[in-house]
Amino acid sequence: MSTTSQNPIPVWSKLPKTSKSIFTTMSALAQETNAINLSQGYPDFDCAADLQELVTKYMGLGYNQYAPMAGVSRLLENIANKIDRLYNCELNPTEEITITAGATQAIYTAITSLIRENDEVIVFEPAYDSYVPTIQLSGGKPIYIRLSSPDFSIPWRDVKKLISGRTRMIIINTPHNPTGNVLTKKDYEELMTIVKNSNILLLFDEVYEHIVFDEHQHLSALSFPELRERSLVTFSFGKTFHNTGWKVGYCVAPPYLTKEFRKVHQFITFSVNTPAQYALADYLMDENNYKELSAFYQEKRDFFLDAIKDSRFQFTPAQGTYFQILDYSRISEANDLDFAVELTRKHKVASIPLSPFYSNQQDFTVLRFCFAKKRETLARAAEILNKC
Ligand code: PMP
Ligand code: GLN
Repeated sequence: MSTTSQNPIPVWSKLPKTSKSIFTTMSALAQETNAINLSQGYPDFDCAADLQELVTKYMGLGYNQYAPMAGVSRLLENIANKIDRLYNCELNPTEEITITAGATQAIYTAITSLIRENDEVIVFEPAYDSYVPTIQLSGGKPIYIRLSSPDFSIPWRDVKKLISGRTRMIIINTPHNPTGNVLTKKDYEELMTIVKNSNILLLFDEVYEHIVFDEHQHLSALSFPELRERSLVTFSFGKTFHNTGWKVGYCVAPPYLTKEFRKVHQFITFSVNTPAQYALADYLMDENNYKELSAFYQEKRDFFLDAIKDSRFQFTPAQGTYFQILDYSRISEANDLDFAVELTRKHKVASIPLSPFYSNQQDFTVLRFCFAKKRETLARAAEILNKC
């Protein structure tokens, strides 16, 4: 166990190997160096004015006290309607949906409420940063499986091999951060075969459900009854409505899992921002507020990739999310962390190295760039990247 000698009182860290997140680090560096920030995933444009007006309206109407623990019923109902329309999945909003402080809290709560000491949890690498520390805080054991190269697909044969009597959960993120990969129907079928007749729970992180490109389609776990009965599925309004700073998301799970989820949820935050929930409930009524999102971001992805097509960076267009992986091996032999820092300090474009998404910090000479940015931001960044 590690402790730090300068502390006045010894601290036996519960997360000795965890440091400040790479998103925090690179965003801070971008700010310090005045670089164009394509690192941390958030838009550099504002969320809709009418959504902002709705929050103000509900504050003015006095919706300023605690919301019900599970969420404002109007929002729960509107989410249930949306999910039924999109994924052909009928939910009982009072028993199967819980509003959370972003998907981060939904993921944390899902893992904490169901993972016990020594439970094994399968995690695919590169993995979003919150999964592993959360598993570790619950005493669980992450079992790492690397996504196949070069297409970042799930190697189902490895999954079958690594499942043991201790496997309690598999975490799946689709569309996938940081690779942009999207699960296919065949993937879901493989998964169904693997978990059939097991006690394995599934945690689906679907925060980019509305951001998929070209011929790809987001097939939610919620559209497969065999998966749904054992799944907790997390979503984020921040990604869909361009308001990551509001930190509102939700978790969908069958009643027996939601019951456990809420036991923990009530002691993490109890409930989530009331006026924001009322505003989101209204805003969700209009399908156009999320249906156009894929086209909106595809235009940005295509603009960015077209602008750097003659650069020395190499890429395969992202299938979904608002991240694009670029391979810089024709430009530098530096490791990805050093190259990301150099690109930020010297060239003034910040990105995210991929090695922190791997348990062994493996470096594949690729960086992640966020294209949830104004056209002029992407054009300025591309101009710089073309000169590298
Ligand atoms: N999962 C993934 C894959 C993400 O990229 C993010 C980041 N935004 C989250 C979860 C967390 O979402 P939120 O900001 O709603 O907490
Ligand atoms: N999800 C965002 C990203 O991938 C970061 C969110 C955070 O900083 N925790 O960049």
